[in-house]
Amino acid sequence: MDQVLAAATSPPVVDSPALPQTASEQPGYRPTLSGAQLEVLHRYGTEHPVAIGDVLFRDGDERYDLIVLIKGEARIVEHYAQPDEFVIVTYRPGEFMGEIGLLAGQRAYFTAVVSAPGRILRIAAEQVHAIMGQELELSELILREFLVRHSKLTRLGSGLTLVGSRFDIDTRRLLEVLSRNRLSFRWLELESEHAAEALLQRLTVPLADLPIVVVPGGELLRNPSSRALLDALGLSAPPPDDGGPPEVCDLLVVGGGPAGLAAAVYGASEGLTTTIAEDTALGGQAGTSSLGSRITWASPPDCPVRSWQPAQSCRRTSSGCA
Ligand SMILES: Cc1cc2nc3c(=O)[nH]c(=O)nc-3n(C[C@H](O)[C@H](O)[C@H](O)COP(=O)(O)OP(=O)(O)OC[C@H]3O[C@@H](n4cnc5c(N)ncnc54)[C@H](O)[C@@H]3O)c2cc1C
Repeated sequence: MDQVLAAATSPPVVDSPALPQTASEQPGYRPTLSGAQLEVLHRYGTEHPVAIGDVLFRDGDERYDLIVLIKGEARIVEHYAQPDEFVIVTYRPGEFMGEIGLLAGQRAYFTAVVSAPGRILRIAAEQVHAIMGQELELSELILREFLVRHSKLTRLGSGLTLVGSRFDIDTRRLLEVLSRNRLSFRWLELESEHAAEALLQRLTVPLADLPIVVVPGGELLRNPSSRALLDALGLSAPPPDDGGPPEVCDLLVVGGGPAGLAAAVYGASEGLTTTIAEDTALGGQAGTSSLGSRITWASPPDCPVRSWQPAQSCRRTSSGCA
């Protein structure tokens, strides 16, 4: 796997002084939490001392925590401990680490490493969900920053690497799954990117195995099904006994586009145990619009819609709402 990571070509370093930075990437443009905000967050997590070199989370980790820096410094690194390792960003006291994948239950694509000793506040992902539901000001701040980071990572092409031909139907299928799930990835197009050939040689992948997806800290996937890809990213449905879809439900909605989502919400709000089966990504065609990120899926507070992540298997949306 080390070889896989080392072989992937790197996008530019965000923190590098040699490269242009957008305003929001300059130190000071990222949100720094106030004393009062830190006090609130302390109710949800635990504080720990950290030393240089400590790894706070690592690429490939199935879950990761929200880390708030109280004192010291920490870096988000891509291709950690590989020859082509690079620093995406450095965080300082009062700043927090993470991006939207943390809320979606996605695997970590990057590694967080302490670069100056200090103290951190560690908040488990479940507690971050509690913050999102209970702390209005903080939830807006965290969500906005997570979305900004996600769009920067998407622009950089950080995260997954897809290698495949533009003429290949499976490459097109995987591109659609990645795009519609709004995942940050880099597409090395076989016909035009020299890096694609170099990567295939280093990984000793024959052309017959294409398309491939390189998951940071994870497996090398050879022409995976859409479901296998989502599984590898930690985005598929959990088993029924872990909050996943029930084996029996009152209403099954096939397709998680606007129509399916609306039907599911109405079904659930009538007290029906409702399940959505979606094979690519929730949001349907609406998710392919460049303005799709302006859409916020919501449901009445007395009818919580759970588990909106995409998967080929069913997801329970809600039950027992009056
Ligand atoms: C780029 C773009 C911009 C648009 N802009 C606008 C706009 O500004 N205003 C507007 O009103 N409309 C707009 N539309 C149209 C709008 O998005 C569609 O009318 C709307 O999405 C249709 O909703 P739907 O739920 O009926 O179907 P879809 O959105 O097509 O959803 C169907 C869902 O079913 C899933 N599915 C299909 N087969 C299966 C299966 N066998 N098993 C499981 N799941 C399955 C699909 O993956 C998909 O998620 C736009 C469309 C696009 C592509």
